[in-house]
Amino acid sequence: MKWYFSLISCLFAAQALCMKPYVPLFSLDGVNLTYDHLDNSQCTAPRSDSQGFQVMYRLREDNKEEILGIVVHYTAGSTVQGAIDSFRKNGVSAHFMIDEGGETYFHVDPKYIAFHAGASHFAEMSSLNKNFLGIEHVSLGFKEEEYPGGIQVPGDNRYWFPYPEEQIKASAMLINGLQKKYHIAGYNILGHADIAPGRKSDPGPLFPYKKLFNEFGVGYFFTETHPINLENFAQLTDEDHINIIKSIGYTPLDDKFYKNDKSKIHHLIQAYQMHFAPECISGKLENCTKRAIIQHVIDLYNYVDQYTGEQHKYFRNTFDQLREKNPGQFQGFSEFI
Ligand SMILES: [Zn+2]
Repeated sequence: MKWYFSLISCLFAAQALCMKPYVPLFSLDGVNLTYDHLDNSQCTAPRSDSQGFQVMYRLREDNKEEILGIVVHYTAGSTVQGAIDSFRKNGVSAHFMIDEGGETYFHVDPKYIAFHAGASHFAEMSSLNKNFLGIEHVSLGFKEEEYPGGIQVPGDNRYWFPYPEEQIKASAMLINGLQKKYHIAGYNILGHADIAPGRKSDPGPLFPYKKLFNEFGVGYFFTETHPINLENFAQLTDEDHINIIKSIGYTPLDDKFYKNDKSKIHHLIQAYQMHFAPECISGKLENCTKRAIIQHVIDLYNYVDQYTGEQHKYFRNTFDQLREKNPGQFQGFSEFI
């Protein structure tokens, strides 16, 4: 009879490995989640770590790795299943994914760190996975050639794809729920391009950050409360404008990421434009970008976030230092802040 019992226990062990992972007790007010949990021990996953399984996320260390923000991504052509397959193949992950119809998939509990950001920096933070949740959006991303449904944005040759209304609504509900649950400041809702300028372009210039803020109170976008005359800011040099973009948090990656390109500053400006000046994403400091930067400063300087009750300390301190160093060049701001 002995062989019989060992066969049974073997079958149970095999089944335990291949079993569908448990559905975690995670919910968000106002959000319908489709549970599709990524499990480190799925028997179908490629085996690569010392235990023999693909590592796709790890436990967050309390106190050291608290949730500060969210990074939004697009899947660059993959469907939900295609993106999950690529997660498994590459040992990466995102906490949530939203398809074009607005269905919201739960993949990784936010108590775990998912691997979605890669090499990244923002406002003195590096390797943002440990503090930022990841949300994927099913989207074609961009095409280099003309493609049905793709549209161009001034200053750029690529064809980008608009996000369907249902998908954006679902994104707003999800981000809103997460901001409330984890007290995430709106200015820490960032795109992958914001934190990896030049290395990443997602979620692209058609991701409607402004609409999300104005219609759903999600994230942050500056409000043009004061009409400005660009001539009053004519003393600002290009370097000043770039330093302001940096004071908002934008940080170039290490030089190795720009080896095929002449100017990492071009990428920094373009990342800023894709989020805050999406009507002109040339990577150059044209008037439309300068106007956005100035309006942004005037609004953000005194902005109090509704979820945290806090101001953007990093921006205020860095901007004050710039202003103190060159008061003449920054004098245009004095009547507003
Ligand atoms: Zn991404």
